[in-house]
Amino acid sequence: MKIFKTLAEFQDFRKSLTGTVGFVPTMGALHEGHGELLRKSSAENNHTILSIFVNPTQFNDPSDLAKYPRTLETDSQLAIHYGATALWTPNEKELYPDGYRFRVTENDFSLKLCGAHRPGHFDGVLSVVLKLLQIARPHNSYFGEKDYQQLLLIQQMASAFFLDSKIIPVPTVRAADGLALSSRNQRLTVQQRELAPKIYQTLTNAKSALEAQEQLTAAGFRVDYVEDHFNRRFAAAFLGEVRLIDNVQI
Ligand code: AMP
Repeated sequence: MKIFKTLAEFQDFRKSLTGTVGFVPTMGALHEGHGELLRKSSAENNHTILSIFVNPTQFNDPSDLAKYPRTLETDSQLAIHYGATALWTPNEKELYPDGYRFRVTENDFSLKLCGAHRPGHFDGVLSVVLKLLQIARPHNSYFGEKDYQQLLLIQQMASAFFLDSKIIPVPTVRAADGLALSSRNQRLTVQQRELAPKIYQTLTNAKSALEAQEQLTAAGFRVDYVEDHFNRRFAAAFLGEVRLIDNVQI
């Protein structure tokens, strides 16, 4: 697996590739969820590029950004294991030469659910994904259903801006107890980790979004929202400082 830290080196490498390119953008601290995206990409493409970039513009909470796990050494080993052929670790200066004066803003769905609780979050996500796609020029890009609102917004952006890359959804990978795998799970205490699968169980079993919200609050979560949209139930809730999200089909 080749590793690229500078934009120029990565762009030269990209120009040299023939055949199909799959792309998996991440913020690192890799787990089996990312693994599934990488495996699918390597099964479907000649090359699989993994990017790791903790994107500052999508963090509305500075302490969440500061505490985001960074595990590059382990990540490169896992990347090889999951079938990545190249790892690109862009830096903020090169990705934001304009200092974020230019950005992608969506004015409807991005303001609901997580967007209602994390102002500017999806502007940051959409802006960085557009930049990454412009640079990596993949045939296929892989995104997880765990971040379902993000996946829909990226699909819609790709269509709105006539992007060439196909946006391919990958089902949520869960721990045996149902908890959606997430890099943020590393920050849970032992007790919080025991409680965390209750999000998935409650979303699946409650008769309504309101009932799910009440059950999660009673169990000790600080709930941002539980809402139903187009046959899916979405939730975001804190355990201590850690914000967990999940969604299920209903
Ligand atoms: P992140 O590193 O959290 O920004 O996630 C990078 C990509 O991996 C996004 O497309 C996520 O939706 C996806 N992803 C993260 N966790 C999971 C999971 N448990 N199952 C499936 N995809 C995931």
